[in-house]
Amino acid sequence: MAKDYYQVLGVSKDASREEIKKAYKHLAKRHHPDVNKDAGAAEKFKEINEAAAILGDEEKRRQYDSLGHDAFTRGQKGGGGFNADFSGFSADMDFDDIFESFFGGSFFGGGGRRRGAHRGADLRYDMSLSLEEAAFGVKKRFTVRKKSSCAACNGSGGAKTETCRTCHGAGAVQQTQRTPFGYFQTTRPCPACRGEGKMILEPCRECDGEGTVLEKKELEVEIPAGVDDGSRLRVAGAGESSKGGKPGDLYVFLSVEPHRLFRRQGDDVLLEAPVTYTQAVFGDEVEVPTLDGAARLKIPPGTQSGTIFRLRGKGVARLHSHGRGDELVTVQVETPTKLTKRQEELLKELAGTFGDKDKKGLFGKIKERLK
Ligand SMILES: [Zn+2]
Ligand SMILES: [Zn+2]
Repeated sequence: MAKDYYQVLGVSKDASREEIKKAYKHLAKRHHPDVNKDAGAAEKFKEINEAAAILGDEEKRRQYDSLGHDAFTRGQKGGGGFNADFSGFSADMDFDDIFESFFGGSFFGGGGRRRGAHRGADLRYDMSLSLEEAAFGVKKRFTVRKKSSCAACNGSGGAKTETCRTCHGAGAVQQTQRTPFGYFQTTRPCPACRGEGKMILEPCRECDGEGTVLEKKELEVEIPAGVDDGSRLRVAGAGESSKGGKPGDLYVFLSVEPHRLFRRQGDDVLLEAPVTYTQAVFGDEVEVPTLDGAARLKIPPGTQSGTIFRLRGKGVARLHSHGRGDELVTVQVETPTKLTKRQEELLKELAGTFGDKDKKGLFGKIKERLK
């Protein structure tokens, strides 16, 4: 079950970093397995640390807010799998320090972030499609506001640089923490150069040395045929740029609008087609709408209301294989409600001719069907 990290820490979605830190310290002390011997305390403690590691890091928190919990539990960026072992922690450790080390994401397993540059943030874009667009695929153009590489400095932030004196170009600094179980080392991005290993001497004027500028970008994505409501598309590298690092990814979240005529069921589309009583009795060839225009459908004589006809290959494209689903047409025999005098006379005459069979009553007819 995906837990909401804000709920885990008991803070609101707009909580400040200070509030998050306070909540974390309070909960971490209370649920530390050394102190709390309740069953499940260790699990709870792990959860609290996970939540703080995401919400304590500004960038990860932003991604968590926009991409949701799944993005982190599926081992995507920032997720990295929290299988860290907390057994080396002690309850009287400095949780302040631990919290601060979450920033930079180096605490759990570390390896997720390579030396130096941060990867650009992932972006989310919500897109709605018509059923036809989802069925056949479509090229979509749209605009996003995002941090793009600064053209003036080519994303470098400034041409003149010198090696960072704090980390000597390594981009990371080691930190030793003392615990009652001994010393252990953590690596975190160098605070002086923010993990870049070098300092810019003359920052670019366009981007103030950031290497990125916020701008509107027009993007085009190819939506494959067969996507469904709730599908998610990842466009690698189309997220935000980052100085010296790889750009993030863009996630397009798709929703499919309800259709005027069709309902979708997997790769099939469902349609209800009204026919008149006489069409059902004598049979007919009728025109029915499909996703690709009108098609002919043969109604055989004696068709019952509710009969389903299958138009093969008239459904939605199969996303992960080839071919298309079917269109299933349910025939609804319409009972006339407005009759002309003449029609009424004819129907009354008709009713008379059914004679005996109708006198069996409803139960008789049902019994007859079961024979
Ligand atoms: Zn620049
Ligand atoms: Zn440095």
